[in-house]
Amino acid sequence: MANFIPLTPVTGDAPTTQNAIASLRAAALRPALPGPVADAMGRGLSDLRISVTDRCNFRCVYCMPKDVFGSDYQYLPHAALLSFEEIARVAKVFVGHGVRKIRLTGGEPLLRKNLEKLVEMLARLGNLDITLTTNGTLLVKKAKSLRDAGLTRVTVSLDSLDDKTFRAMNDVDFPVSGVLKGIDAAAAAGLSPLKVNMVVKAGMNEDSIVPMARHFKGTGHIVRYIEYMDVGATNGWRMDDVVPAAEIVRLISEEMPLAPADPNYSGEVAQRWRYQDGTGEIGVIASVTQAFCQDCTRARLSTEGKLYTCLFATHGHDLRDLVRGGFSDEQLRNAIAAVWSRRADRYSQLRTAATAPMPKVEMSYIGG
Ligand code: SAM
Repeated sequence: MANFIPLTPVTGDAPTTQNAIASLRAAALRPALPGPVADAMGRGLSDLRISVTDRCNFRCVYCMPKDVFGSDYQYLPHAALLSFEEIARVAKVFVGHGVRKIRLTGGEPLLRKNLEKLVEMLARLGNLDITLTTNGTLLVKKAKSLRDAGLTRVTVSLDSLDDKTFRAMNDVDFPVSGVLKGIDAAAAAGLSPLKVNMVVKAGMNEDSIVPMARHFKGTGHIVRYIEYMDVGATNGWRMDDVVPAAEIVRLISEEMPLAPADPNYSGEVAQRWRYQDGTGEIGVIASVTQAFCQDCTRARLSTEGKLYTCLFATHGHDLRDLVRGGFSDEQLRNAIAAVWSRRADRYSQLRTAATAPMPKVEMSYIGG
């Protein structure tokens, strides 16, 4: 683990809102260089994650714990959210900067009404990979219409196949069977290859690692094991809660031998491992033990239109102010280029026990 380095340079200064807005507006008026944009570490911009809602119907204990996200929690008012038209407009500008993959997330993205309409608008932008991360609870109802609208693939989160463990983790008593039905519906609709995300938290669902691999081996679905991260400020993360990816691979490989596989493309988040008997593959996302900041080409657009250049950022850049303030697409393009070209984030490479409690935005707001 790297030594502690003060957080400020990771996400830039934390300017006051008025200063930040004024400086982004000024950047919008300065013509950006033509051609693809690169950040301060030479990283391009090819992925965009869009959070379409900060609400969720789960209360996963590591993400939206009930004691913080209770019945009195103040979610964003509807007027604060970017509309579908606004999202599509911003997305188009990002595509102009080289974005080829868009992931819709949240909160639970399928809670946003008529999401298919947004998918349709994004699909019209051209040759894009449009994916969605969901807890799967609404897929039985929505998989086909999403596919028809132009969604390419889907990632479904499922932290255990053991009903008791899963109900305890989602904390709303939702059964495993409901998510498995959603996965089947997505596969039947052709949203494949389908990925299944499992966040592994020590002492909570380690026992589910091997059964999960066993269950999905040979189905064509790819289980991706995610190291538990210190996102946000509400999950009380400790390094001891992390089960290292190497340990996950070792546990599975003992029963179902694995061999490393080449990445599908440079910058792929998950390390791929294939079953030696040819029955498929798994992925591990070692965001804590083997940070992959050096290849990170992802921008994040929050529910209310703020651009974040890192999952662990402390502040975002208010694109909604430009969108609603009469700025042109070209000016939006300039502003995004200015933000991206100053980007030097590499939080995961600098993470230590000391950085974990520092203020960060919640994943449900910025989008997982
Ligand atoms: N509601 C959707 C879902 O359940 O997939 C999308 C949003 S959720 C925040 C996106 C992903 O982030 C899920 O796979 C979730 O398990 C993962 N996640 C949330 N908190 C995490 C944490 N602290 N560490 C690692 N992954 C986390």
